[in-house]
Amino acid sequence: MQDRPTKLVEYQTYIDGKWTGAQSGKMFETSDPYTGEAWARIPECDKVDADLAVEAASRAFETGPWSKMTATARGKAMRRIAQLIEKHAEHLAQIEVRDNGKLISEMAAQTKYLPEWFYYYGGMADKICGSVVPVDRPDHFNYILREPVGVCSFITPWNSPLMLTGWKLAPALAAGCTVVIKPSEYTSASLLEFMKLVIEEADIPPGVVNVVTGYGAVVGEPLVTHPKVAKVAFTGGTATGARVNELAARTFKKVSLELGGKSPNIVFDDCILDDAVSGAISGIFAATGQTCIAGSRLLVQETIHDQFVEKLVAMAKQARLGNPQLYETQVGPVTTPPQYQKILGYIDIAKSEGARCVLGGGPATAEDGGGKYFVKPTIFTGVDNKMRIAQEEVFGPVLSVIKFKDEDDAVRIANDIAYGLGSGVWTQSVRRAHSMAQKIKAGTVWVNTYRAVSFTMPFGGYKASGLGRENGAEAIDGYLQSKSVWINNGPGGGNPFIMKTAG
Ligand code: NAD
Repeated sequence: MQDRPTKLVEYQTYIDGKWTGAQSGKMFETSDPYTGEAWARIPECDKVDADLAVEAASRAFETGPWSKMTATARGKAMRRIAQLIEKHAEHLAQIEVRDNGKLISEMAAQTKYLPEWFYYYGGMADKICGSVVPVDRPDHFNYILREPVGVCSFITPWNSPLMLTGWKLAPALAAGCTVVIKPSEYTSASLLEFMKLVIEEADIPPGVVNVVTGYGAVVGEPLVTHPKVAKVAFTGGTATGARVNELAARTFKKVSLELGGKSPNIVFDDCILDDAVSGAISGIFAATGQTCIAGSRLLVQETIHDQFVEKLVAMAKQARLGNPQLYETQVGPVTTPPQYQKILGYIDIAKSEGARCVLGGGPATAEDGGGKYFVKPTIFTGVDNKMRIAQEEVFGPVLSVIKFKDEDDAVRIANDIAYGLGSGVWTQSVRRAHSMAQKIKAGTVWVNTYRAVSFTMPFGGYKASGLGRENGAEAIDGYLQSKSVWINNGPGGGNPFIMKTAG
């Protein structure tokens, strides 16, 4: 176990290029989920700080050096950001693990990969082209400008703080926007380190990237309602996302939402069994199940069900629970005490619904004897898709195994859910792979792999899993708007009382 820190690290937040506390002077503590001990103090911002940050972002957008910078220079600045992330990747990962308890092997892989987002979108900055339109009027030269939307608010969850920020920040900066970021109150530290080691070092002008820290309802909502915010990019729970969407609609903001999931991971009897077992395990137990794309509903074809479950349990049993800062650990603690209680509550619900617990099913202690908030990797069989354990997001290491007959049955069960984020298909049939990919209603379908993401591929949800897409070339559209320019090179005049709808 880590020692209890004798002195808490004190963080400041970053507004208008300056380090500051909350105007109220309030702070809150952030804890290490492995030790359960507080290790740092974070400014507890409120509406006053949110307003200051939005005003700073608005000035930077309207009149600051950023607004005058060429797109090529913006791209260069983004490459500096990428290089600085590369330099500090391991340190940033360690801070994330300290705050959210996810495995260092996963968080380090994320921070090492994150520069790619800034290289990719940085390269796009000076390739955002408008177009000339052959409009249906004589003597006209019409064109479309693509302009940045303006000030953007980002609100992020605790499970992958920097990665999910980078998915928003890179296209927003490439488009020329300015931003205010509110990280989760559970995991603010890595973003504040990122601001110091990366954004400040990269000489990004004041006000372009601002951070306010604190609680969602207190400092998150003012970022969603502020009239000078043009776009809100939110990642978090579906209920919070609905609230954010409603509030943002009142002032007609653009909104993108990356929300919860209950993803089906579908195993056909023609799969490579060992690959599918590994895919099922990493789909649910990686990151202690605390990922939006967790393959939490495992649909197994009835012909191989018993054999598959036996292999699954045998492999899952071997998981090494322990200190998430060690590379050999395979399952870490749950991030927050409320989340820990919620997971245990769902395990009870599953048992009371009649699902059969074939592995785990309760609290655990790490192998080194240390640690708090550990839950045993848990597998339920005999799950009916109508049960709450199959329909509701647990966000923990709890797998529901559901039997199916054939392809049609698998598609019916997979789609009989409010969510539509990820999905997996394990098969060797090319026909079946493409057919399933077309029929599953989800933003991502992985075939013979699971939980892969890339800056080049759009990511997002169908149905209650969200609105809009992050990543891939199309993500930049979420930070741009079109302006139609009409130039009449011919005679003006005509009937002043009739709209010029016809040529
Ligand atoms: P959450 O919804 O509780 O919080 C997310 C963020 O919203 C936090 O920063 C929080 O402070 C803020 N917030 C809370 N109430 C708010 C309000 N009224 N107004 C504005 N902001 C508010 O989610 P969480 O528990 O931090 O994260 C877990 C959830 O995130 C899960 O449902 C998971 O599926 C989802 N998630 C989705 C994706 C995705 O890409 N689809 C990725 C990661 C996590």
